[in-house]
Amino acid sequence: MAYWRRSSRQMQAATGQVAVAPTSPVTEKPKSRSRMMRQYDLVERVRTYNPDTNEDLLNRAYVYAMKAHGTQTRASGDPYFSHPLEVAAILTNLKLDDATIVAALLHDTIEDTEATRAEIDNIFGHEIGVLVEGLTKLKRLELVSREAKQAENLRKLLLAIADDVRVLLIKLADRLHNMRTLEFVPHASRRRIAEETLDIYAPLAGRMGMQEMREELEDLSFHTLDPEAYAVVMQRLDALADRNRNLIGEIESQLSKKMQKHGITARVYGRRKQPFSIWTKMERKSVGFEQLSDIYGFRVVMPDVESCYAALGVVHTTWPVVPGRFKDYISTPKQNDYRSLHTTVIGPGNQRVELQIRTEEMNQIAEFGIAAHAFYKEGMGSPTERLEHESNAFAWLRHTVGILSESANPEEFLEHTKLELFHDQVFCFTPKGKLIALPRQANVIDFAYAVHTDVGNSAVGCKINGKFAPLSSELQNGDEVEVLTSVAQSAPPSAWESLAVTGKARAAIRRATRTAVRDQYAGLGRRIVDRLFARAKIEYADDKLKGALPRLARASIDDVMASVGRGELKASDVARAMYPDYKEERMVRYGAKKSLAVKLKLKAPPHPARSASVIPVRGINSDLPVKFAPNGGAVPGDRIVGIVTPGEGITIYPIQSPALKDFEEEPERWLDVRWDIDETMPQRFPARILVHNVNEPGSLAQVATVIAEHDGNIDNISMSRRSPDFTELTIDLEVYDLKHLSAIIAQLRAKAVVAKVERVNG
Ligand code: MN
Repeated sequence: MAYWRRSSRQMQAATGQVAVAPTSPVTEKPKSRSRMMRQYDLVERVRTYNPDTNEDLLNRAYVYAMKAHGTQTRASGDPYFSHPLEVAAILTNLKLDDATIVAALLHDTIEDTEATRAEIDNIFGHEIGVLVEGLTKLKRLELVSREAKQAENLRKLLLAIADDVRVLLIKLADRLHNMRTLEFVPHASRRRIAEETLDIYAPLAGRMGMQEMREELEDLSFHTLDPEAYAVVMQRLDALADRNRNLIGEIESQLSKKMQKHGITARVYGRRKQPFSIWTKMERKSVGFEQLSDIYGFRVVMPDVESCYAALGVVHTTWPVVPGRFKDYISTPKQNDYRSLHTTVIGPGNQRVELQIRTEEMNQIAEFGIAAHAFYKEGMGSPTERLEHESNAFAWLRHTVGILSESANPEEFLEHTKLELFHDQVFCFTPKGKLIALPRQANVIDFAYAVHTDVGNSAVGCKINGKFAPLSSELQNGDEVEVLTSVAQSAPPSAWESLAVTGKARAAIRRATRTAVRDQYAGLGRRIVDRLFARAKIEYADDKLKGALPRLARASIDDVMASVGRGELKASDVARAMYPDYKEERMVRYGAKKSLAVKLKLKAPPHPARSASVIPVRGINSDLPVKFAPNGGAVPGDRIVGIVTPGEGITIYPIQSPALKDFEEEPERWLDVRWDIDETMPQRFPARILVHNVNEPGSLAQVATVIAEHDGNIDNISMSRRSPDFTELTIDLEVYDLKHLSAIIAQLRAKAVVAKVERVNG
């Protein structure tokens, strides 16, 4: 089996003679190769895993690239051609197909030599031409100024690799070789390249399941960016390696003995964690080196899945298990296709050891990720097509790129992508089976916006795996999510903005609520203005107002109306701006007779709270300019009046509310309103009742049951004991209308435990 350079040392370690690699390859000075790989070396490498390789094609590419690069040299002084050759060699370790190897050999020719796409198409065929062109585009991206363009570059990178994942594999190999020889590059660009590697390429490799690649890229970057920290970690690792020299052999022999009793052969090899991952763990958890218990990992490779579980059984009966560390990634694979059983035990010498138990195939995928999906299955279509079926990681890539190509703003892209792209994801599905990738901790709101902004804006409920669930439910891998929408909801509740996890959802919610609020204020403002003009018997015309805009210091008629609606501008100011000699008439008290009815659109999802699980959206969105009286509310059937509060909007009171007394001196704040209820879409509204309950066991439960049985929602209950015999319950309810409320009150009064019920009008 071909391994990375470092892995060959790990293989040595597996023999038990050398416990842990004495040095890491990244600490070695990159050496100029005294002998470049020859044509036959390369062909030989390919032939070990692909006996049917097209030798002629490989040979032609070798010669073509060598000639094209001619006497060019690298910063190291090596002939330039050594670079594409090394890149191709890295890819033979991944056992890639001829087209990939050939494209690797040619990857810098279009950009750096006389070679052209047409020529490459001619000699090597269209497939290879496309790959080389993809890499050429990526190379050009790198030349663009980085600060401003990083987001856009990353986006283009992802777009390019989504067409054919082999472009990514070649790009990663290219970057790996450049990182291995970074020493020769001027200091300033060294840092930049290392940072970019750490920011983009290493996580991308990890996301594609290519852990070996990711780790080497990380360690090389770490070494460049913080050589001192790197040295410290390495020193400690070496010291530990000395101390635990025999651990691997011991574990292996004990395990093998036990397994043999069960007729199972296991291959065990040890592998220490990589310096960069140890460093980040130390930084993240701010723990010292000594406290990192899981520096040693052991891989137990089994012939099949069944024996993985058998091995787990043996391990768990041989050594004490560290609780809470067992994970079954075989039955639930990670998003990058990783599968293994993880457990930590107190092993020989009281040493905590982490074991990863897996099959050979899982081992391949763990190390090579997306590249391990054998490209050599006959008659299985193109690698891209096959990968879409076989690899979650690739499906994710495709999906992410889909989102990216829709988002116009590169900064927005960075916000979402850098945060979300490279961290753990959850993968969920629409009822039609479309994959939706979301960051961990995302909920259904995020899901809805990921499907479509309109779906998000009109989401009122959801089913997860066929069961009703709250929109705030955190999504789990593999969830099938059906978002229930309602045309009655044109804008999402603004509270969702803080519930949403993804930047996309947050931005959309912000946008939608801002627009909705503004529209509502403008609508309200227009009605207030209309009313004043009607009463004053002066003519209103948009054109006339347009002429008065400068005087009102507003940019548009909508601005004026929204300002009036918000109470920032008085309707009389508008009138005066249009008719300078307008004099404010005395307001008629309440203005009730002549005033126009303000139609209130009170929007709510259908049966918003019929299942307790749905996010309560009460009648109206909280940030719209209409809300209900704070202590008691109002329900359809009540006669209502609106009170305008500048900067806040309208509060609806039932006409019998004692609170209205406070506004008697301010008739201009009174607004005539009426209900505008869509009978086909029942909505709930807040009401408060006061219940005097007999103190006996279960009496509160009886009250709650009556309310629930009659389809009332209890929003809140507060209790105070007035006497040894009675408790006063203040219950905030949500009901459909006055009839509904009255029915509930009547049913409560019929209960023996209820002494008295009355409605509260705040
Ligand atoms: Mn290159």
